[in-house]
Amino acid sequence: MLTMINPATEEVIGQLPTDTAESLQSKYAQLAAFQPKWNALGFEKRAKIVAAFNDRLQEHKKECAEILMREMGKPFKQALSEVEGTHKRLDFFIKNTAACLKDDVVLTQDNVKEVISYEPLGVVGNISAWNYPYFVGTNVFIPALLTGNTVLYKPSELTAMTGLKIAELLYASGLPKEALQVVVGGGDVGKTMLALPLAGLFFTGSYATGKKVSEALGGRFLRTGYELGGKDPVYICDDIDIAKTAEMVADGAFYNAGQSCCAVERIYVHEKIYDRFVEEFATVTRRMAVMGDPQNEKTYLGPLARKPQLAVLEDQVSDAVRKGAKVVVSGGVQKGKGWYFAPVVLSNVNHSMKIMRDESFGPVVGIMKVADDTEAVRHMNDTEYGLTASVYTKDEKRGERVLSQVDAGTVYWNACDRVSPHLPWTGRRHSGIGSTGSKIGIQAFVQPKAHHWITRD
Ligand code: NDP
Repeated sequence: MLTMINPATEEVIGQLPTDTAESLQSKYAQLAAFQPKWNALGFEKRAKIVAAFNDRLQEHKKECAEILMREMGKPFKQALSEVEGTHKRLDFFIKNTAACLKDDVVLTQDNVKEVISYEPLGVVGNISAWNYPYFVGTNVFIPALLTGNTVLYKPSELTAMTGLKIAELLYASGLPKEALQVVVGGGDVGKTMLALPLAGLFFTGSYATGKKVSEALGGRFLRTGYELGGKDPVYICDDIDIAKTAEMVADGAFYNAGQSCCAVERIYVHEKIYDRFVEEFATVTRRMAVMGDPQNEKTYLGPLARKPQLAVLEDQVSDAVRKGAKVVVSGGVQKGKGWYFAPVVLSNVNHSMKIMRDESFGPVVGIMKVADDTEAVRHMNDTEYGLTASVYTKDEKRGERVLSQVDAGTVYWNACDRVSPHLPWTGRRHSGIGSTGSKIGIQAFVQPKAHHWITRD
């Protein structure tokens, strides 16, 4: 049994039966048997079902947001915004998948025609993270379904109720149960899932687990995608509006209690404005960080979803302070019920400190002074991760110059912590490999077939 706990109250909110090796086998067998039929149904009929799900999800958005809030502690307002934001993502996939399935006639010459067609992979597995289950989940299973695959979907154990709710709404929208099955359980169940003869495995989670998954799949020829962690930097140039920029960057650092793969975790500030920026950032953080009951409209920071992360954050902060960091905003673990951690802002940080090297995945951030753009780029690239990076400057050319030298899958000029279905979401190095979103993220779920068509007399 999986025991679901509300991180805000520490109360048990549910018990769910977990999958076993036998139940996984049986789910896989159903998905494998049905996959050719699902593919034969054709894109238009599949798209109709997904469009019905898209509408239904919005009709049930409050209920969905409530479940997400209760199982992972996300403030209701932010949970609702996630469910609402899923709408345009699904719309994008519905509108753009047909083009990815269309044959490409690449040569017509004399009696020869050469064509590339695109076929689904088969049964794909999706092992997913809990921090944005609607975004990271639908990014995989929706294009997978639309392109004719069937899906074995494992939400994190922390958001298993959300996973089951999604499946309920999909089935109610006309999706046959044999097209998608939810797996309930923790990491051990995820590990067992990897033994199945899946045609693809799409993983969202930490680098540490991603590495384990990749090792477990070693030597197997299946399509894989890994969306992993980040240690995302922002560089603040000396020509910006300090108040407005501090506001945007603080939101990038603390939204969802900093539990975003692309949360701002390192801030580099040009020395000319360093002191003023740090002061403003601290003021904004204190004002913004309304912490408390996730149900309350005014709450900006809920509890952390995972209790062990409290100790990880405490360790990062004390390591930095021991090495000379200055505490600008003092927070930390809160007394009483719930896994609350008030934001911590540190200045005088450097790259010998864990807070500037290891993924924090919580509301802590370090601000470091740099002399110029060259030093900023050097520090931004001094990481094993490569998910996103931002620069704030009025000068577009300067922004472009800086970002062209940064080794990350996504770069932002005057923005941070932003996603778009039109663009690929893709990491480099420890942030993963492969893409979701955009047409590239749809093509991930099909395999090409080459046709040599020769007319003979
Ligand atoms: P984890 O790596 O802990 O877990 C990810 C998934 O893997 C969960 O479903 C987990 O199950 C499962 N799992 C755990 N162990 C194994 C195993 N040995 N074999 C197979 N599956 C396993 O990550 P979190 O869920 O805690 O998510 C946070 C991480 O995800 C952060 O590093 C964050 O940056 C990253 N992330 C990256 C995104 C991106 O787009 N690049 C987006 C969102 C998050 P269970 O949870 O049930 O234990």
